[in-house]
This record gives sequence, structure tokens and C-alpha cells, in this order.
Amino acid sequence: MSKAALLPFLHIVVFLVIVGGGLLAFKYFYFFHKEQVPVLPASPRYLDVGLSTEERVANLLSYMTLEEKIGQMALVDKNSVTDMDDVSNYGLGALLSGFGAKPELNTPVGWRDMVAGFTESSRQSRLQIPILYGVDAIHGHTNVPGATVFPQAIGLGATGDAELIEKIAAATALELKATNVTWNYAPNLDLPRDIRWGRVYETFGADATLTGELGAATIKGQQSGKVLSSAKHYIGLGDMQWGSSSNKNFKIDQGYTAPDEELLRSEHLPPFKQAVDAGVESVMVGLNTWGDRKLSANHFLITEVLKGELGFKGFVVSDWYGVYEISASKYTSAVTAINAGVDMVMLPFDYKMFIKNVTKAVRRGEIAEARIDDAVNRILTAKFNAGLFEQSESPALEVIGSSEHRALARAAVAESMVLLKSEGVPVVPEGTKTIRVVGSAADNTGVQSGAWTVEWQGVKGNNVPGATSIVDGIRTRAGGSTTVEFESGGNFAKASELADVGIAVIGEASYAEGWGDLEYPVISAEDLEAVKKLQTSAKKVVVIIVSGRPLLVANEIDSWGTVIAAWLPGSEGAGVADGLFGDRPFTGKLPMSWPYTSEQLPIAADDTTLDGTKVLFPRGFGLTTQ
Ligand code: BGC
Repeated sequence: MSKAALLPFLHIVVFLVIVGGGLLAFKYFYFFHKEQVPVLPASPRYLDVGLSTEERVANLLSYMTLEEKIGQMALVDKNSVTDMDDVSNYGLGALLSGFGAKPELNTPVGWRDMVAGFTESSRQSRLQIPILYGVDAIHGHTNVPGATVFPQAIGLGATGDAELIEKIAAATALELKATNVTWNYAPNLDLPRDIRWGRVYETFGADATLTGELGAATIKGQQSGKVLSSAKHYIGLGDMQWGSSSNKNFKIDQGYTAPDEELLRSEHLPPFKQAVDAGVESVMVGLNTWGDRKLSANHFLITEVLKGELGFKGFVVSDWYGVYEISASKYTSAVTAINAGVDMVMLPFDYKMFIKNVTKAVRRGEIAEARIDDAVNRILTAKFNAGLFEQSESPALEVIGSSEHRALARAAVAESMVLLKSEGVPVVPEGTKTIRVVGSAADNTGVQSGAWTVEWQGVKGNNVPGATSIVDGIRTRAGGSTTVEFESGGNFAKASELADVGIAVIGEASYAEGWGDLEYPVISAEDLEAVKKLQTSAKKVVVIIVSGRPLLVANEIDSWGTVIAAWLPGSEGAGVADGLFGDRPFTGKLPMSWPYTSEQLPIAADDTTLDGTKVLFPRGFGLTTQ
């Protein structure tokens, strides 16, 4: 047969192959991908409040399709949701305001309505499962302008006062609930070993026992307001090596955790054990690496240790985009993380791709369906326990920044201050006629509040609505019969006429996460110059260090009289004056040791330095006036 004669024959064969292939593909798609949607009765049992959580979860799970289950495992940044209907159409499990992502109308009303809108959309889904809405309210509901800004955790660590911390957490929960937020990414249980790390201020300090106690108090306080907690970052984030960051912009944050398993267990695990015992609802895994893998890929630490040995019954959530740092393939990354034990993935962007990939992986048998059921069971249990399925009245918006909460924050400021050196108290004695104030942190509510205040990286200047600066607190307390002069750089007109008391409020500007990684955390040259000038224009000088971590001050401290660590006190600057004028005693203790030099870093849990020298002030140090 000639080639030309064969051609029609060949066309028929090709045609049959295409049609046959198409039919086969359709059959495959139809039988394997087209899952029957379980029929939902008019009043499903899981909506019955009279049933136990266990019964409700089991009943709800029985109606869920695979895609609906996987939707619950997705945690999405609110800015990634371009179509509001996606929340219900994809049955998303949770939304967050990453980096403080705000509503268009950035006010308490705007926040309340934004979260209500997303929640309402989730209630419109076939199964009416409400979303969780998460934020980082690490020192109050501070993404919201006008909220009470409590001292950052490092200052709360200095108070060592679990009762106070529980009250602060309850107040924060109330402010969160007023805007319908149901989940807080706190407490932070990291144990910092290195002051060069930009996240020291987020922690209660280096003491595992204290951190465990204050973490449990936070969880208890939040539970009283029906706000879910997230103990973070599991595990060893405080013990990463300088220079090991996997992020090219950072030095230590998102780095390599060096301790071996024994050290990880003896030092870093106990606070998480306490959080689990306190009934923490979720645990966030860190962006660090341990051994040969990212934490979110570590089956041993997540499934065997946390869920197995510690008996954690809540859900494990991954950190921002962390899952996708496991490997170059997003598909493989998601499969690895879920198989390692991650229950909810902070994607935080493309949820459609995530749901598609994970569905495919389950169909292919790469993720067991039982693993998905376990993850969703944990998430739904937390939602039922928090009462999310039952609509309830939110607290009135007036609780946000209320005078009661501000009074609590002010008391916390005074309790958090650590007196490092003293020339006698009260620092501002009775009868003081003239006070001179200098320094970059004296009239700067942004600096005194630090990061996660109004903006993720914090704000500069007096731009924290409702806040009182430290110098304003001093002015008010000093009253009309005392003259208070303020000049940031210390350039006073009549400098030779010495003031009775000089107060230098100096420190570091705000930063969040790796943006605060700093090889030499020191006081700025301008602030040091201002202190020098003050020393020549006041009879005595008190130096107040406003910072999220111990700073390197060994070269200066001998020439300073009274020195106070005020940490990042937040919106209630008047609390500093309470300590200075003797209205409240100094009781704060250093929650981590204060090094002389950066050569001593990192400092081990038992306060031993790398070079074997003594630190400037050991952990637990603080002069008391009570
Ligand atoms: C941080 C977490 C935080 C999360 C959500 C991440 O960059 O590491 O601590 O909870 O963002 O905002």
C-alpha cells in the first residue's frame, strides 16, 4: 500500500485514540474527582448546643466533602481575599491580619465591621462554619488606633507578676472581642539567648519557668474572654545562631537552632508543656530550622513530641509562608507539612492552589484521609469550644482604650521598670523645683510603644492615638509648682543654671522581627550626647533606657548615676513618672541577663557567657525600694 493510501486510515486511528483518551479522562475525573456532596438535613445535629463538642464535631465531619475539610485547614491573609464570597465558597478555616493588615476605615468601628463582614460570609457557607479571625495582639489590640497599648512582653517578664499578666490578657481579649477578633497569636514562649535578635522584646525573657508561668497566665486570661491563644514559636526560636538566617534580609531571625535534642527538651520545651497543660488551643511552629529541616517539616517534634508526648489536643498552625520554605515545590511543601503534623497552614496567599494541591495529594494517597480528619477535628473542636457556632453579642467598642484598661497598663509600666543603679529614691524627691528632660524617647509615644503598634514596624513620633508620652507623664505629675523643661538634644538656653533633676529618656527606635537584628545594639550617638549635655545642666541625672532588649552600655554606665530599664512601656507613659516620683516602688527584675559586650553573646540559660566573663547585670537583678 502506498503512503498516500494509508493516510485516511491513520487519521481514523488518531481520531479514535483522541476520543478514547478523552472518554478515559472523563471517566477518571468523574469517578475519582466528583465526590458526592453529603445531603445536609434542615437542622443538622451539630448546630445543637446541647450536644458535647465531640458529638458536634463528629456530626459535622460526616457532612463534609474533602474540599470542605481542606478549606478549614487554610489560614489566609485578609488582603489575599479579593472576592468576599470566596470565604464561604471555599469554606476557609481562618483569616488573619498579617503585618497588621487593616480595614479601609482604620478605626475600631472599621475593624469591627471588617471582621463581622468576613465572619458573616463564612456563615453563608453550605455548612455555616464560622471562620477564626487572627491578629498579633502581642501587647494589647494594638493594630487598632486608640487601643490600650500594654508594655511589651519583655517588660511584663520583668514584673514576674502572673496575676497582672492574666488581667492584661483578659483586657486584651475584651478589646479583641469588641472588634469580633477571636484568635490572638500570643503568648510568645521563645527564650532569647542573644540580644542581637530583633524579637527579644516579644518574649517574657530567658527564664523557662517564668515564661511558662506567664504564658499560662496569658492563655487563662484570653480564655476568660473566649479568645483563642497560640503559643509560639515552637520550638527553639530564641536559640538561633547569629548569621544563620535563611532570609537574606536578616541575620539571625528565621535562622538555625543549634541546641541538640537534650537541650531543646530541657530548656525550650517546658514552657510549651505548661501552655499545653493550661489548655492552649493552638501552637504555632517557627520559621527556624533544626537539624536538617524547617520546623514545619519536622514530624518528630510536631507529631511525636508535641502531640504525642505532651498530649497537645489543639491544632498546630504554621507561621507566615513557612510551609512553602520547606521545598521549591509548593505541592511537596504542603504535603510534607501536613504529614509532619501541621493542621492549619498560614498560607497566607493562594488558597485556591492549596486546596487543589492537597485534594490531589489525598486522592493520590500521599496524605492519608485520616490525617485530614484529625486536623479538621482539632480545628473544629477549638471552634465549638470557643462558642463560635453560637452568635453572641460583642462587647461594646467603648472597652477599646477604656480608662480601666489604661489604668491597668499604667500600673504594669511602673511594675516593669528595673532599677539598675541608684543614687537614692525617690528619683525625683519632694520639693524638686526644676526638672530638665532630654532624649529621643522622652516625647515619642511611637518609640515607647515599639513594634506592632498601629503599624507592624511601629510608628515614629507622637502618633499613637490616646497615648501619653513619658515627658507628658512627668509634667502632669510634677504639677504647677515645678518647672519641666524638655529639649531632646539637651540644648537648654540657660544650661549653666543647673536644674534640680535631669532625666534622660533614651533608647532605640521601633523594629519588628528580623528588621531588628543588630550586631551592636547600642544607644545612638545623639542620645549619648544629650546625656552628656544634661550632666552639665542638672545637679543629678537619671538615665531611663527605653528598649526592647538590654543594650550595650558598658562604656557609659559608670558615668551615669541612677539608671532604669523601662523596656517598651506602651501607651501609658505616666507609669514611668509613678516610679520616678516614688508613687510606686521599684520591684522589677531583669528577665534576662544584661551583657557587657557582644563578644559575650549568646548567653546560655544558666547565664554563662561564651568567653566565660561576667555579665554587666545578671538575670534576676533589680534594686528594690519596697
Ligand atoms: C511572625 C508570627 C506572626 C505571624 C502573623 C510572622 O511573620 O513570625 O509571630 O504571628 O507573622 O502575623
